Amino acid sequence: MRITMIGSGYVGLVSGVCFADFGHDVICVDKDASKIAALQHGEIPIFEPGLEQLVADNVRAGRLSFTTDVETSVAASDVVFIAVGTPSRRGDGHADLSYVYAAAREIAEHVKDFTVIVTKSTVPVGTGDEVERIIRETNPQADVAVVSNPEFLREGAAIEDFKRPDRIVIGLNDDRARGVMTEVYRPLYLNQAPLLFTARRTSELIKYAANAFLAMKITFINEMSDLCEKVGANVQEVSRGIGLDGRIGSKFLHAGPGYGGSCFPKDTLALAKTAQDFDSPVRLIETTISINDNRKRAMGRKVIAAMGGDIRGKTIAVLGLTFKPNTDDMRDSPAISVIQALQDAGATVTGYDPEGMDNARLLIDNIAYADDAYAAARGADALVIVTEWNQFRALDFARLKSVMNAPVLVDLRNIYRHDEVTKHGFAYTSVGRPSND
Ligand code: NAD
Repeated sequence: MRITMIGSGYVGLVSGVCFADFGHDVICVDKDASKIAALQHGEIPIFEPGLEQLVADNVRAGRLSFTTDVETSVAASDVVFIAVGTPSRRGDGHADLSYVYAAAREIAEHVKDFTVIVTKSTVPVGTGDEVERIIRETNPQADVAVVSNPEFLREGAAIEDFKRPDRIVIGLNDDRARGVMTEVYRPLYLNQAPLLFTARRTSELIKYAANAFLAMKITFINEMSDLCEKVGANVQEVSRGIGLDGRIGSKFLHAGPGYGGSCFPKDTLALAKTAQDFDSPVRLIETTISINDNRKRAMGRKVIAAMGGDIRGKTIAVLGLTFKPNTDDMRDSPAISVIQALQDAGATVTGYDPEGMDNARLLIDNIAYADDAYAAARGADALVIVTEWNQFRALDFARLKSVMNAPVLVDLRNIYRHDEVTKHGFAYTSVGRPSND
């Protein structure tokens, strides 16, 4: 299959290189010329484990290339994927579909012969109908089938997720696309990954329902963790106790500073907006959004309380700035709100992140950045773990204590046990656990 991927970001680049690795001929397109130039020189514009090698292998094998030229790539393709961003629209929280619609127009202008157009971006119900309308309006001669194929990969484990998905959802209303999509995913299909064919609108909704459910699950355990703190119970044991029930499952039951990232916040909001528009409000999700929004700042207050209630003039080291480990993605990271709350209360913040500092500098410009955890801790009155990178899981507490102004650790990811920290003379605060656990 000859495939064009429009948009070479986290999803487009990973999907494109994996399709090439399956044996397809893939051209990744982006309108960001600097991104394409970097990719053409073998530089990967994002941090994603294993991506650099896989890109290099497939470029060498002649199956993967990069361009800003939509015309040539689209005209020569059997399948064109749209993997551009769908951020929250400023002001009202609906998904901003302008990039998707612009891509649809560009595709329509250059498409030749029968072509399957696949929306991989996360888009609200009915977007496929609009993409189809735009294509027909722009080029009435275009012979296309518009398909929905939402992506479920997780940043940080994206290649593994793409190559070993729990399921592949394909929504189509034109049966000509069925054989083409089966061929595109043949290697996974042969490996038993279920291909779930649905109508296009159903497929679009599946993606939002999945993300909203996961966001709700995280928020559920976060509320349980607050209750645990009040009643003297341990949220990690509650998670294990409920997660072992096969009907519930153990994943996404880790209490923490609230969900962030490039998907859950915007997708929950977009779903709530769509549901309101259709007079069928999703109140569980509306509540989830509001609980999570409040939680991030509440984590700032938790740090302030752990430091005795007054942090004016104090220095705080924040470890982990990305929304989760193994990515450089800072979009909607809880660290942003936590740091803001600490600064609002008069503290000075030093931050460190293994991969996210370049992106962090674009979003948080009024903190100091350190080269490692120990440099961040130097002179600090407290150390706060916001993201559970592996390198923070075995900190040298004696060394930290020797450089800090006061030995206070706030662990918002519960990666330590109380006794292994307090035995070094630290005051230790975690999430949803009794103070001696
Ligand atoms: P991203 O911002 O990393 O990448 C989008 C890319 O599209 C950018 O490089 C941008 O320059 C490019 N682009 C925009 N308009 C273009 C056009 N007309 N022609 C060519 N290139 C264009 O975004 P992302 O994180 O990859 O997300 C893409 C979509 O996938 C979103 O809808 C998102 O919700 C969804 N998604 C993301 C993830 C994730 O973990 N990041 C997971 C599943 C689904």
